[in-house]
Amino acid sequence: MHLATVGVGSNLGDREAIMRDAILWIGAQPGNILRACSSLYETEPFGNTDQEWFLNCVIQVDTSLPLKEFFRLLQEGEDRSGRTRTERWGPRLLDLDLLFFNDTVHSDAVLTVPHPGVAVRRFVMEPLCEVAPDLVHPLLKKTVRVLLDELGDSSRVVRLDRPSVLAH
Ligand code: ATP
Ligand code: CA
Ligand code: CA
Repeated sequence: MHLATVGVGSNLGDREAIMRDAILWIGAQPGNILRACSSLYETEPFGNTDQEWFLNCVIQVDTSLPLKEFFRLLQEGEDRSGRTRTERWGPRLLDLDLLFFNDTVHSDAVLTVPHPGVAVRRFVMEPLCEVAPDLVHPLLKKTVRVLLDELGDSSRVVRLDRPSVLAH
């Protein structure tokens, strides 16, 4: 089994329903077991700020799929949400970023793991710290807790105090 850590985001449509549906779908695919799901966070858009706020969360999945197959599954998950590929950092129904895959370090034309943005984005690090504070970044060699402590990003990230996105 492998442990995959995935960042989930949406800033169009019924954001929460889209995320719930995608998370349940990932967890229901053969070879996958949903292990953890953070709270939802309402977050200021990153990069292109002229758009709606995002909802973000982080999930962890035990998977028997190898890296590339798991990544393909995430892309399929985005496609089935109706996402059309537009500009980077632009508005989207669903964004599924593979943050970590065990302690794998990998880079090719379509996939870089760990995700290069992970340690510098508050909207990733806050939900990540909820589910995996002791996870060690395989390149930076620091735990998520320490990386969050050291984080310079001051963009607004608000944890929503409500039942799990999966509790409906
Ligand atoms: P960012 O990757 O900076 O968060 P984004 O999510 O807006 O930006 P997308 O338009 O969703 O970017 O994806 C652009 C490309 O990133 C995808 O086509 C995909 O092949 C590539 N990619 C590389 N590494 C990863 C990864 N770890 N997780 C998801 N996509 C990745
Ligand atoms: Ca992203
Ligand atoms: Ca993405």
